[in-house]
Amino acid sequence: MQITSEITPFVNEPFTDFSVEENAKAFQSALESAEASFPVVVRLHIDGEDCEGGGGTFSSTDPSLTSRVVANSAKANKDDTLRAIAGAHKAFGDWARRTAAERAEYLFKAARIMRLRKHQFSAMMVYEVGKSWAEADGDTAEAIDFLEFYAREALRYARKQPLTRVRGEDNELRYIPLGVGAAIPPWNFPLAIMVGVTMAPIVAGNCMLLKPSSDSPGIASMFLDLMKEVGLPAGVLQFVPGSGAEVGNTMVEHAAIRFINFTGSMEVGKGIYQKAGTTPDGQIWLKRVVAEMGGKDFIFVDEDADLDKAVTGTYSAAFGFQGQKCSACSRLILHEKIHDAFIEKLLPLVEATTIGHPSEHKNFLAAMINESAMNQALEGIANAKKEGNTLVAGGERASEDGWFLQPTVFTGVGRNDHIFREELFAPVLAVHKVANFEEGVEAANDTMFGLTGAYFGRNEERIAQAQTELHAGNLYINRKCTGALVGVHPFGGFNMSGTDSKAGGRDYLALFTQAKLVSRAVK
Ligand code: NAD
Repeated sequence: MQITSEITPFVNEPFTDFSVEENAKAFQSALESAEASFPVVVRLHIDGEDCEGGGGTFSSTDPSLTSRVVANSAKANKDDTLRAIAGAHKAFGDWARRTAAERAEYLFKAARIMRLRKHQFSAMMVYEVGKSWAEADGDTAEAIDFLEFYAREALRYARKQPLTRVRGEDNELRYIPLGVGAAIPPWNFPLAIMVGVTMAPIVAGNCMLLKPSSDSPGIASMFLDLMKEVGLPAGVLQFVPGSGAEVGNTMVEHAAIRFINFTGSMEVGKGIYQKAGTTPDGQIWLKRVVAEMGGKDFIFVDEDADLDKAVTGTYSAAFGFQGQKCSACSRLILHEKIHDAFIEKLLPLVEATTIGHPSEHKNFLAAMINESAMNQALEGIANAKKEGNTLVAGGERASEDGWFLQPTVFTGVGRNDHIFREELFAPVLAVHKVANFEEGVEAANDTMFGLTGAYFGRNEERIAQAQTELHAGNLYINRKCTGALVGVHPFGGFNMSGTDSKAGGRDYLALFTQAKLVSRAVK
């Protein structure tokens, strides 16, 4: 491959300003083209060939209009997965020996094309997973960022590493790839996370099997097409859409898989961690597992906070993309002195939420991803009522066209109530009142998770204390707890939120390499 890029410092991809008429029109037209293309056909891609799957087919539907089929996808079975693993192994020999610059160039090229076709990618997410214009645009921008950032990181890791010098030796530390890995992303950032968990290991020299989420094969196959277009060599990226139970387990348990890069729920992550811990016959390594999992993220508003800022930040973090972000605020901790004033300001915003199909720009809230997610949320709401929590907004389905749930707020929530402890992954906010700062910190940290959190307050001493005491992988002060930017806010959580791999950070690529020290005696 010819290397054409002049490497400039990394900058984040700007978000589209939809108040500019030209941008809004361009997006509208991308939506129309996407809609006309449904259902798109998705095939497996193994060793450079598109193929049908031994498992039959499955479909993704528009969660905000469930009669619309977005993608019909071929479904890989165990045999397809085994074939993909074997092919990736063959491809690894050559790919691992390419220079970092050569590998990075595929990512730079993909980023350039994705930028040109930005709205096409975003439009697919509006229909396939229910993202609003702004959320879809943010997802595509993040995917471009991951490509640009990890490509630069591969070049940085390939540079001469600093070592202490000793007389009589030349020493060199090289970061070499691990082998064949499995990328298992979730549906909620179906482009950005999928691109990140797959392409970071690839640019580091590994070959990957990608099993996209069954809710979003359409957007994943658009990305696959892009990687075919930029000429990624056969076998480097094997595309095996299929079930977690069959394709997922086959990859996780296989002796030839060297590592697993998973992002998803705690339950599935724990299962993968356990299965990957066994060493089947013939496996000559301990599998590495990078698992980024769920959250029960908080915003703690202190007595002296700027309430307007805290209210808008909370509203956006709790209800943006229907509360289906791992970083979404689901626990709101309010100092008793501002509790009532805060709720008085928040509720009108919640009541005024525009709900409907996300292809209409005016709609802030669309449907939840699928029926079972909605039912689980409704069950959580019913339990919260049973436990004596006070429903002050929402709580019902919002439309029968799709899996719509009203933005929901409970007050009077205790620290041991289910709605304060378990991830619902829905537009449901649990409000807990505290008497002082110390109690607020205790409540915020009283969780098995530790992904994101935010503190709103003005007192510098308390801010300093909050920065030290609040235990979250991504802690924000006087701003919302969602909206991490690649390179700016490396992202990943503590405890049951995962292995804290810090996606979009400078340590990330090291997770998919092993350091080889070469020491040479010299006169
Ligand atoms: P999920 O755990 O249901 O699925 C994630 C992926 O795992 C999917 O591709 C799925 O098909 C696959 N899978 C399911 N069973 C499997 C098995 N037995 N073996 C191997 N793979 C299997 O999660 P989801 O519903 O797609 O995503 C939502 C969850 O992801 C939430 O809990 C959210 O907090 C979390 N999440 C975390 C982060 C983070 O960075 N920490 C980011 C996004 C989402």
